[in-house]
Amino acid sequence: MEPQKFCQSCTLPIDNMEDRGTEKDGSKSDIYCRYCYKDGAFTDPGMTLDRMKEIAQAEMKKQNLPDNIIQQSINMLPRLKRWQVPPIA
Ligand SMILES: [Zn+2]
Repeated sequence: MEPQKFCQSCTLPIDNMEDRGTEKDGSKSDIYCRYCYKDGAFTDPGMTLDRMKEIAQAEMKKQNLPDNIIQQSINMLPRLKRWQVPPIA
């Protein structure tokens, strides 16, 4: 079964409410996971797309996911909401 929702920063499935990040008012984020987003802000605001690719790849390797699945997720990263807007220097 395909997960319905992915974190728009790192592709983690966020179908479970407990995997979702939190807004400032304590409500759950619809689009980001708890690792990326907490209390209405990114946990690591300095994160770059390239760095996220490395981290995501390492995490998925740890979980022994097949290479084609890992590659699919990595290819998905640049299309996620967080990475659509280039960071302002
Ligand atoms: Zn995430």
